[in-house]
Amino acid sequence: MLHHFTDPGLRERYADLAARTVAERAENCRAKGVLDRESWQEISDAGIWRLAVDRRWGGDGGSWWDFTAAFEGVAAGGRDLGFSLSMVAQAGLIRSLLTYGSDEQKDYWVPRLLAGDVGATALTETTGGSDVTRGRTSAVSDGDGYRLTGHKDHITNGPVADVALVLGHVPEAGDRDITLFMIDLNDEGVTRGDPENMIGNQTSPTGPIAFEGVRVEARNIVGTIGGGLEAIYNTIALDRLLYGVLAAAYLDPHLDDVLAYARQRQAFKVPIADHQYVQGRITDAKFAIEATRYVSYGALDSLLRGDEQASLLCSVAKYHAGETLRLGTETALRVYGHLGYMEGPAARALQDALGTLIAGGTAEMQRKNVFNQMRRLATAA
Ligand SMILES: Cc1cc2nc3c(=O)[nH]c(=O)nc-3n(C[C@H](O)[C@H](O)[C@H](O)COP(=O)(O)OP(=O)(O)OC[C@H]3O[C@@H](n4cnc5c(N)ncnc54)[C@H](O)[C@@H]3O)c2cc1C
Repeated sequence: MLHHFTDPGLRERYADLAARTVAERAENCRAKGVLDRESWQEISDAGIWRLAVDRRWGGDGGSWWDFTAAFEGVAAGGRDLGFSLSMVAQAGLIRSLLTYGSDEQKDYWVPRLLAGDVGATALTETTGGSDVTRGRTSAVSDGDGYRLTGHKDHITNGPVADVALVLGHVPEAGDRDITLFMIDLNDEGVTRGDPENMIGNQTSPTGPIAFEGVRVEARNIVGTIGGGLEAIYNTIALDRLLYGVLAAAYLDPHLDDVLAYARQRQAFKVPIADHQYVQGRITDAKFAIEATRYVSYGALDSLLRGDEQASLLCSVAKYHAGETLRLGTETALRVYGHLGYMEGPAARALQDALGTLIAGGTAEMQRKNVFNQMRRLATAA
């Protein structure tokens, strides 16, 4: 069986909730360039973050399939890509803690995130995003802990997050020194910058976080010193496939709207939906949506089983997510004709979609990972 959804009502319940919250407030939040904290809290209170988390850490003891169903509901009902991108960042952070955190870390950090604190994962710096080893953020020993100094850029939720998982170097560890730190962003020495002026996704404030000699207790190192890179690649795998889940769920209602418009808009004495070139555009988008949805389910299945193809499939899902979001939103713009090119929802959806060609790792980096994984699997065979 490819997917393991157990509660058929979850998706609909969250779609209803998001339609009443996220969708209602998106326009206003976009204009202000803020994360919709009110809806975030309501969705957190409804229990979305608890779905995939063991009861021991305050969760409901379900699986990432349950979270995926609920997330699809928010993506489809909320109709705001930015809000969903902020959710992907939070989901990835929760999984990092569950996978690599100590029991003490899970006890301390996970319940905060389940209750509605906003999380970020801070890898990218001005010196590099694709190649995160180029970052300069470093931690030096200070008694029984560390002092972290550095400057992260382009971080989803960065301007508003309460907590962050931060990638940095521990130079005294030698060559293998990349390490993950859990930081409370209200701590002394942390500065959250203003949201960056992006062309889309204004409801997912993305920006810098600076660390100036921030005290980090040794107990807040996630995983091992030097184990940061491996841990983050594994963590990013969930984010990557969630982009695919998001792409399909978010585009479903867009394509319904496109079809409805094409059935009523007349050209050459018939609805434009009767013209085969228009049908071709709509079906191309549908092919891409369904392929992205099911490769993402396959990637989740593979990831949760610890299958050797998991990393490859998660990159395939992420690659298709970006391309499908671009194609789907571009299709809408084309079918709406000049109306699509006006300042408005169709043009904004395309601007939002373009961000997913970069966020979560560029298309080129997914190709690189897919090829590396193919080579690894072939060598192992
Ligand atoms: C909306 C949004 C949200 C984001 N959120 C986060 C976040 O939460 N946390 C975070 O840490 N970062 C985040 N980022 C940053 C994002 O991860 C980086 O921008 C991305 O990884 C690319 O890094 P870069 O911008 O430095 O480009 P570069 O790494 O400089 O790449 C520039 C170009 O070169 C190509 N390239 C680089 N190396 C190779 C290679 N080996 N082979 C082929 N092509 C290559 C890239 O594909 C790209 O086309 C976000 C970005 C966006 C747009």
